[in-house]
Amino acid sequence: MATLFPLFADLHDRPVLVVGGGAVAERKVQALREAGARIHLQAPTLTPALQALADAGRLGWEPGTFRAGALDGVWLVIAATDDADTNRAVADAASRRRVLANVVDDAALSSFHVPAVVQRGELQIAVSSGGGAPMVARHLRRQLETWLDESWGALTALLARERRRIRARFPEPGARRRFFEQLLAGPLPRLLRQRQPEQAERLLADALAAPVSRPAGAVVLVGAGPGDPGLLTLNGLRALNEADVILHDRLVSDAVLQLARRDALRIEVGKSAQGHSVRQESIHALMLEHARAGRRVVRLKGGDPFVFGRGGEELEFLRAHDITYEVVPGITAAVACAAYAGIPLTHRDHAQSVRLVTAHCRDSLDTLDWAALARGRQTLAFYMGVAGLETVQARLSAEGCPASTPFALIENGSRAEQRVITGHLDRLAETARHHQVSSPALLVLGEVAGLADTLHWFGPAPLAAPPRSDHPAAATLPHAA
Ligand code: SAH
Repeated sequence: MATLFPLFADLHDRPVLVVGGGAVAERKVQALREAGARIHLQAPTLTPALQALADAGRLGWEPGTFRAGALDGVWLVIAATDDADTNRAVADAASRRRVLANVVDDAALSSFHVPAVVQRGELQIAVSSGGGAPMVARHLRRQLETWLDESWGALTALLARERRRIRARFPEPGARRRFFEQLLAGPLPRLLRQRQPEQAERLLADALAAPVSRPAGAVVLVGAGPGDPGLLTLNGLRALNEADVILHDRLVSDAVLQLARRDALRIEVGKSAQGHSVRQESIHALMLEHARAGRRVVRLKGGDPFVFGRGGEELEFLRAHDITYEVVPGITAAVACAAYAGIPLTHRDHAQSVRLVTAHCRDSLDTLDWAALARGRQTLAFYMGVAGLETVQARLSAEGCPASTPFALIENGSRAEQRVITGHLDRLAETARHHQVSSPALLVLGEVAGLADTLHWFGPAPLAAPPRSDHPAAATLPHAA
């Protein structure tokens, strides 16, 4: 189903029809009056409060039951009766005349919904569940009520009052946005919270009078974590909110990108272990171009930028070109996948050290110290390893790593689609093939990997190796030279 289009309607002085004269109609009338609508009521009888409004000429009342002609010339209609037939008749007649209709407590009959609202002066936050679960919207509204104090109304009013002056001072939208951000990050909101409106106004006037300095561009290298947006750091979130340009890898999850400033320019410079879709030089060139134009560039990478993320090369480049930079670490795949699979990377009984290893390509596999990797009492975390699993298995076995060494493959770690596959080294490649493990996936190898079978807590339970076939799996494995 399509989503609802959110809309704040200006009903000031516009005719609106309310069908019904009971308690529910009374609530709707109250909200419509706050919006300044010209209200016409159609109902056989009215509550005393509605009656009083009618008597005082605050609304028009047509006694009697619903009559389609009453829809002539109205912008909206609200059916607030407890009679299902009447409500349906209102919805049908409204639909024929292209008048938006809300039928109280009937999402299916309604062509518009009235959201749950948090209001602070002119500032309104409307929450909708799409009509399907109003309780969720109401619950969230209550939470918002406690988060947002009254000063938001004062803040909105102050900035609305000064809007023209601010625009004149900062005609360029980028500069204006930076001004607002600095203002809102500064002491202004606090002054309003402390009910010091004069000081707040003075602060704003001073800020407007201060000389404008052209911001220097900069690059923030941000680790986006493994996918779950909750694993982004607060500094990472702040950088995303302040970014003018976001250069992100394909590995960065949509859920994280959703948190970024809406109007930031987003460029996917996706690189997968297989295809280098945007060359590193082009990424460097993009960073340089935007930073030199005075923009705030966020270079957003999956996991941590300094763990198999080429963050080092990018900083060297920025340094060489005199561009200011900052690094915000992220939770790297090994740490996140282990946590979300219930695997402690170190454990007093099993492993005293952890190695992060890249199994990216033949070259990197050839240069690894396999004898050292095959030693016990350590945990190995292989990145980018899906294609190299046969080699990993063969090389480690050849160096004497026991066939019974547990492994866990974590695919899409921390994401909704996460899968964990566990087994033992002698059937690593076969098991991965059987379950069609695909990228991104991380291989954890070592005694601790076995703990996933009991300690798992996120997503479905780990999948196991397929039943053994007649032929011993090991015999079908290609042995590395
Ligand atoms: N800088 C990243 C690693 C980039 S290399 C970090 O610190 O995590 C890309 C590899 O990381 C993938 O091939 C995969 O092995 C691993 N990876 C990244 N995110 C992952 C995830 N959500 N689940 C499983 N593996 C992941």
